[in-house]
Amino acid sequence: MRVYLDYAASTPVDKEVFQVMQPYFSQEFGNPGSVHSFGQKAQAAIDKARKTIADAFGIDFDNVIFTGSATEANNLIIRGIIKPVSNFAFRLESEKAQRDKQSQTSKLPHIIISKIEHDSVLKTCQDLEKSGQAEVTYIEVDSGGFVNISQIQKSLRKETVLVSIMYVNNEIGTIQPIQKIAQIIREFRLSKLQFQNQSKFTVHDLSYPLFHTDAVQAVNYAEPIRLDKIGVDFMTISGHKIYGPKGIGALLINLPSAAYHLQPIITGGEQEFGMRSGTENVPEIVGFSKAVEISLGMKQKEAERLKFLRAQLQSGIQKAYPRATFHGVAPLVSNILNVSFVGYDSEELLYRFDKFGIAVSGGSACHAKALIPSRVLMAMNLPENEIRSAVRFSLGRYITEKDIAFVCQKLPEILGK
Ligand code: PLP
Repeated sequence: MRVYLDYAASTPVDKEVFQVMQPYFSQEFGNPGSVHSFGQKAQAAIDKARKTIADAFGIDFDNVIFTGSATEANNLIIRGIIKPVSNFAFRLESEKAQRDKQSQTSKLPHIIISKIEHDSVLKTCQDLEKSGQAEVTYIEVDSGGFVNISQIQKSLRKETVLVSIMYVNNEIGTIQPIQKIAQIIREFRLSKLQFQNQSKFTVHDLSYPLFHTDAVQAVNYAEPIRLDKIGVDFMTISGHKIYGPKGIGALLINLPSAAYHLQPIITGGEQEFGMRSGTENVPEIVGFSKAVEISLGMKQKEAERLKFLRAQLQSGIQKAYPRATFHGVAPLVSNILNVSFVGYDSEELLYRFDKFGIAVSGGSACHAKALIPSRVLMAMNLPENEIRSAVRFSLGRYITEKDIAFVCQKLPEILGK
């Protein structure tokens, strides 16, 4: 028996998703940019998929930008938002020089992210910082895995162009208070508009900071998911975390004129409204939209089902190993359980589980093959022995009670010294 408990790393492609993708590999293979009927059919399929995703997330049709991954979407928002700011700052340099000379604060665009963001956000920001293109504030998290909201509030300043806080953490499953953060950012923007403040800002300044959330781990289980309801300007999603194909993601936008704030990082044929050049990956786009449809359709039921199975797993672990400690406090998505088996090494445990056909993870997927202690658990200030012995179980659509019973039954053997 094999039990896959690593759904937060990747999910299998849903059969229905696979089915709708198939015609676009070798029958309807045309380039959507071509004017002939082959091209038109491909374009129509993309249009339909884009409309499905736009409606599901409550945004305009032309505010869905398909990318090659969530990693790329995160790069697009972070690097792409810096570009117009830098260009604008350049144009206004002479006008602003006097004021900047008097001011002690940095002129660089400022970004705020949390310490527990995915590497695609964290390392992109670090890269901008290293190359002198941006200044970044890294927000602390508490021991339950939640970002410090008052630190976000205090860190907002005139130069802040972007706040990027993930909706759901991929290692511990905490659902961050995104709506509350959105409100704080809105209030900050409004405070710039106050009469006595206005003269300090250009019209361009007044539209910042913008708010982005990496919702890769949220689509399947967190609510609300519509951008207008959450109050975010940008959202990142990924195909392979929602039973769609790998190698497809999207940046979703909730702004009337995104081009004013965002510039492409991949240039060329100007596909995706000029925001992401490269011939569109038609089968993946079609599959992605089907995966969104299915995921949102079964969300509530599936969240309840997995909550029940996760509780069973948790009690099985407690029984087999009373010293186990569980990380992250509610609200948590119902598919992730992060546990420390103090006295064991997390890397060794992954191999032990694998020997019994059980796939688990030691943290984020990118680190699964490396001996790097989880920086998420480190940011939560957990004791070293808990960090070194943490294992992430992530459940999903094809996990049954039988699977969980099998894992619980094997635990004593797996943990046997
Ligand atoms: N953001 C989060 C929170 C993730 O969990 C992941 C994948 O692990 C990504 C971004 C990257 O997604 P992709 O594999 O589509 O680049």
